[in-house]
Amino acid sequence: MNEPPEGRAPVTETSGGVTLRGLGVSPGLAAGPVCRMEDSTRLLDGHWAAAEPHVEAGTAVRALEQASRALAELAERAAEPEARAILEAQSFIAADPLLQESVRANALDGMHAPDAITAACAHHREALVTAGGYFAERAADLDDIRNRAIAAARNLPMSAIPDPGHPFVLVADDLSPADTITLDPATVLAVITEKGGPTSHTAILARARGVPAVVACRGARELRDGTRVAVDGALGEVRTGVGEAEAAEVRWRSAEIRARLRASAGPGRTADGHPVKLLLNIGSAADLDTEVSAEGVGLFRTEFLFLDRRSAPEMDEQVAAYEAVFRALPGDRVVVRTLDAGTDKPLPFLGLPEETNPALGVRGLRVVRARPDVLDTQLDAIAAAARATGVRPWVMAPMVTTVAEVADFARRARSRGIVDVGAMVEVPAAALRASRLLAELDFLSIGTNDLSQYTCAVDRQHGELADLLDPWQPALLRLVAECADAGRRAGKPVGVCGEAAADPLLAPVLAGLGVTSLSMSALSVPAVREALAGRTLAECERAARSALEADDPAEARSRAG
Ligand code: PEP
Ligand code: MG
Repeated sequence: MNEPPEGRAPVTETSGGVTLRGLGVSPGLAAGPVCRMEDSTRLLDGHWAAAEPHVEAGTAVRALEQASRALAELAERAAEPEARAILEAQSFIAADPLLQESVRANALDGMHAPDAITAACAHHREALVTAGGYFAERAADLDDIRNRAIAAARNLPMSAIPDPGHPFVLVADDLSPADTITLDPATVLAVITEKGGPTSHTAILARARGVPAVVACRGARELRDGTRVAVDGALGEVRTGVGEAEAAEVRWRSAEIRARLRASAGPGRTADGHPVKLLLNIGSAADLDTEVSAEGVGLFRTEFLFLDRRSAPEMDEQVAAYEAVFRALPGDRVVVRTLDAGTDKPLPFLGLPEETNPALGVRGLRVVRARPDVLDTQLDAIAAAARATGVRPWVMAPMVTTVAEVADFARRARSRGIVDVGAMVEVPAAALRASRLLAELDFLSIGTNDLSQYTCAVDRQHGELADLLDPWQPALLRLVAECADAGRRAGKPVGVCGEAAADPLLAPVLAGLGVTSLSMSALSVPAVREALAGRTLAECERAARSALEADDPAEARSRAG
C-alpha cells in the first residue's frame, strides 16, 4: 500500500463524503459514477473441464501467441510512440520461446492451460524481479501478458476495461499500458489508480490522451461501483458523496475550462509579460500533428527511432526522420536529444554487456564510451537534416555527469557545424556543477523524471514510493534552483522538459526559480499557459521562495498556492 504523500492526510471526511488524495498526474476535472476494473482473479474463477495434457498444452501455447498478436496489433494502432514501444516490447515477451516452452511443459505435466500459463509467468516474473533494475520493471508487463493469455485460453475478453453503457470514472489497482491506450476518452471520464507513480506508463499515456488521472490514490480500492465521485487530475483529489447538482457543476466547469484551453494561444508569459517559452515533447514528426499552439519543440526523444532494431538505423533513415520534424516545426525552436539508451530503453544492437543495476550503469551519453560511432553518426545525421532544411537545431546529450563528458560532447557536435549545444540535467552531480557545465555549453534542460529518481534514490517506475518522486519535493526544487541560478549568471537558457513542466500549479514556481522554458506533451500546454498568465513574475518568485523553504511536497504546494 502506498504511503500518502508526506504531510497530506490520505482521506478527509466531510459531511457529504470523503476526499481521497493521491498524485494528480493528468490535469482536468470530471464527475461521474465509479466503475471498477475487474480484478484479474476473475480469470481464475470457476471450473474448466479437464482435457488431455497435449490438448491443454496446445491451448496454452496458442493463447500466448494470441496475446502476443493482440499486443502487436495494439502497438500498430497506437498513436503515441511511447505506447507503441511499450506494447511492442510486451508482444515480444509473449512470443518468447522460453516462456512458451515452460507453459507447454507445465500443461504436459497435467496442469490446465490457465494454471500452466500462471505458473510459467510466475516463474519468469520471479527471475525478472531477482534480476532487478530494468528487468524488475518488466515484471508488471508479464502480469498483463499472463492475464491476456488466460483470457484467450478461456475465451474471455482480453481487456478488463468495463463497458457499463454510460460514461464513468475508471477505478483500478493499476492499469497496463495496453489498457491505458485502449481507453476511450468519450466514455472514460477520469482514471483513479491505487498504485502507479507520476512517471508510470499510466500517467504518461493518460496525459497524452487528455484523460484526467489520479495515481497512488490510497483508498481507491474501497470505492464501489456506482459511487458518484468528483476528480481533480491536477490537485490529485477524489471526492465521494457528490450530488447530481454538484456533478453537473463540475461537468460545466470542466467543459468551460476545456473550451478556454482550446482557445488559448500565444507565447508563454507571466501576467506582467515575462517570457517563459512553451515547448513540446515529441518522439516523431507525427506528434506535431496537433491543434495546440506552442513555440517549438523542447525535447525530441530520438530513441524511438532506435528501439526494437537489430542494427542502428542507417544515416539516410535518420536524416529523413529529423528532416520530417524540422519541416513540421511549430515556432522557431527544436531541441534534439541524442540517443538516450539503457534502463527503460535497452537497445540490443548496441551489444552492451548485461548490468546488475542498469539505472546506474551505461545509460544515455555514457554509451559513447563503448560505441562512439553511434553518437557520431547521429550527430552527422542531425547536421545534414539542418543543412537540408535551413533549421538551426539545438542539440543536447542525455544523462551527463561531468564537465569532461559535456566538453567531449560539445566538441563532437560543434565539429559538425552544430551551433547550439546543451545537456540534460538528470543527475544531481550535473545540477551541482551547472555553472561549470554551462562554461562548455549553450543551454541546459532539466529532466525532472530522472533527476527525481536519482535525487531521492527511487526507481522512477516504483508505485509504492511514488510520494518520493513527487516533483514538489523541496530537494528537487533546490537542484532546479541551482541550475536556473547558474543559467542566470551565465546569461544562458535553462529549461525543464520532465513531467514536472506539465504541472500547471508548479509552472509558476519553476518560472519563479528562473527557468526559461517549459516543455511538455501538447495537451498540457494550454493549462500551463493559463497558469503562467495568472501571476506576475514577482508573484512567481515569491511562490518559488516559499516552496523552497517547505519541508515536504504538501507544504511546498500549499505555500506556493
Ligand atoms: C527526464 O528524465 O525527465 C526526461 C525528460 O527524459 P526521459 O523521460 O526520456 O528519461
Ligand atoms: Mg531522462
